[in-house]
This record gives sequence, C-alpha cells and structure tokens, in this order.
Amino acid sequence: MMDKIIFIALSFIFMTTLSHGQEDYKEIVNENKQYTADHQYDVPDLKDIKLKRKPKNVILMIGDGMGHNQVFAAYTANGGKLNLQNCTHMGLVKTKPAKKFTTDSAAAGTALACGKKTSNGAVGVDADSNKLVNIREELELMGKATGVVSTSSITHATPASFVAHQNKRNMYEAIANDFAESNIDVFIGGGKKHFVDRKDSVNLLNKLEAKGYQVLEDINEIAEVTEGKLVGLTSWEHNKSVLDGRGEKLSKASKTAMTILDGDKDGFFLMIEGSQIDWAGHQNNTSYLVTEMLDFDKAIGEVLAFAAQDRETLVIITADHETGGFGIKDGSYSEGKVEGMFPTKGHTGIFVPLFAYGPGAEEFNGILDNTDIPNLIAELFGTQLNDETK
Ligand code: MG
Ligand code: MG
Ligand code: ZN
Repeated sequence: MMDKIIFIALSFIFMTTLSHGQEDYKEIVNENKQYTADHQYDVPDLKDIKLKRKPKNVILMIGDGMGHNQVFAAYTANGGKLNLQNCTHMGLVKTKPAKKFTTDSAAAGTALACGKKTSNGAVGVDADSNKLVNIREELELMGKATGVVSTSSITHATPASFVAHQNKRNMYEAIANDFAESNIDVFIGGGKKHFVDRKDSVNLLNKLEAKGYQVLEDINEIAEVTEGKLVGLTSWEHNKSVLDGRGEKLSKASKTAMTILDGDKDGFFLMIEGSQIDWAGHQNNTSYLVTEMLDFDKAIGEVLAFAAQDRETLVIITADHETGGFGIKDGSYSEGKVEGMFPTKGHTGIFVPLFAYGPGAEEFNGILDNTDIPNLIAELFGTQLNDETK
C-alpha cells in the first residue's frame, strides 16, 4: 500500500516537472520588495517632429505583464523620465479573454494579433479552434516585410500568437514548425531547442537555411546583419533576465529587425516583446520587474528614435495583461528607489496602458478592447482582419 502511494507521488512529481518546461519561471520563489537604481539614463524629446500623414510601417511593442504601476516603477527608478513619455497618445485596454475574467498570454496575444477573443491557452485560433489570420499575416499579404522579436523563447505564447496557429500554447514543437512554414522575414528570440531537439527529429534550422534564411545565435553577429531573411536564436530556451546578464539583447535585436525590414519598399510590421516583466510579477520580485521594465523602455527608445527619423512609422506600446497586482508603497526619484508590493502571484484583469506615436496614433485614444488594436491597424491600411464576408 505504502509503496503504491510513494510510487504515485513520485510519478506525479516526475510528470509535473516534465510538463512545466517553458513555464519554470512561475515556480521560482525569489521575493524582493525594493529596487534601487545604480544609474539613470536621459531621454530625448521627440514630440515636435513633423510626421507624415499616413503610416507605412507599424511596430507593436508588448510588455508582457506591464500594468500602469510597472510603468510608474520604471519612471521612478529612472528619476522621473522614460522614453515612453515621447508617445503623444494614450489609451486604456481591457484584456478579458473569452469565457473568463482574467487572461493568459496566449488568449491576450491572440486578441492583439488576430482581433478576436479566444480561450486561455489558445494561440492564433478562436474558442472553437478555427484558425485566425493575424495582423502580421494580413500586412504580409499587402507586400510588407514582417518580423517578431522577444526576450523569451520565440515559441512562447506572445510571439507565437503573431505566427502560429495551435490549440495549446505548450505545443512548442508544432509552434516552431509554424515559424518554419511561415513567410516571416525576421525572428529573433530564444528557444533554439524547439527547432533542433524535436520528437520528429527534423532540424528546422536546416529547413530555414534552405529557404534562404541566415541563421545566427550570437547577438553581436545578429547586430551586424542589415539585409536578407534572418533567424536569430540567442539561447537554447528562454533568454536570461537582465539581472542574470542578458545585456542589451532586446535593443540590439530590435534595431537589427528595424534595419532589415525597412529595406522593403512596401513597409513593414514588427512585433517586439519585453517578455519577462510578467515573470518578475509572478515571482513578486521588484528588482527583476524594474530592470526588465527599464530594458523594455530602452528598446522603446530605439524604436521611437527610428520612428522620429522615418516619420511614417506608427508605434503602439501596450501590454497583454497586468501581473502581480503590483503596487508601490514608497520610492525616491533622486535615488531611483521603488518599494513594491504584490497581492497575487498571478495575472489580474485590470486595464493595461497603451501608448502610441506616429501617423495614426490618434486612433488609439480612450478605452479600447485588446481586439480593437489589430482591427484598427488593419483599418488604417484599408483592410479587415478575419472578415467572414470575404
Ligand atoms: Mg515587399
Ligand atoms: Mg509573453
Ligand atoms: Zn504570466
């Protein structure tokens, strides 16, 4: 009897360990309540740039788990300034998925990519498992170059929502296959494992090379690329956190993607994710949260500098949901100090902020639903996403 119980208990532990895989970040308990900046950076003023009337390019930036207080924490830590403040328009975004109150990153990513509500866990398909067209694919059909960049594995829920169509977010190998089958021009993130260490023994990187992609792993080599199709897989699974030494990967990958995609005369669509703001929320770790937020804001600085120079790039910066119910008890602008608090280790259903810059930014004001975002982008380019009448 006892043997049997021990056996069942051990199998349970074994199975749950195996099944977690890419979700390990939710298990680590590393609470930390206070962050103090070791340096603060300046931000340029881009608000008076004379922009063109219509957008040619769109860059959608998603801070996973980035609520208002996450933004405010970074703003405080950096002495009362952020690159984000160059955005000229703001909105509040409702994140509710189909059926439930609180979303996961898959349903929210699908809403932001495809303009339809779906069930938690679904990637690029609706609540009845029907395949949805995403805004990246729709703009690709109009001739635009497209890309995705992420600090997680590229097969994780948020970037996957802009490329893949699978019923479950943890179908990483199927999602990697969707990347290899797609016509995307650039993708840079972690997750090499899901392309080469697969149950079907297929090496998707060989397949991608045969399709004409440059395949690179070193971020400094990636940063040198200026044209052609590019796969950048900068880690075996997820990229490290900033605290563990990720460095400037997100800013460098974002710059490379913009440079390559800007070579297309028809314009481009690029999604950039700051993935680990969410994981810091799950771990209730204020230092992790603020450093990931500041890293995301530095990438925002690169994107807005490009948009200000280009003058026909619409930039939308938002979140898929808030994580941790993060609050701020005290802080100091001069010392870059933030004292945080977290009532939950999970996601919340509250509004997330939206910031916009560039031609078309004025469309993204007020209270929006997450599904409005890709639908409004499609409308700006005279098309309609998932139009049943077509
Ligand atoms: Mg083209
Ligand atoms: Mg994510
Ligand atoms: Zn999460």
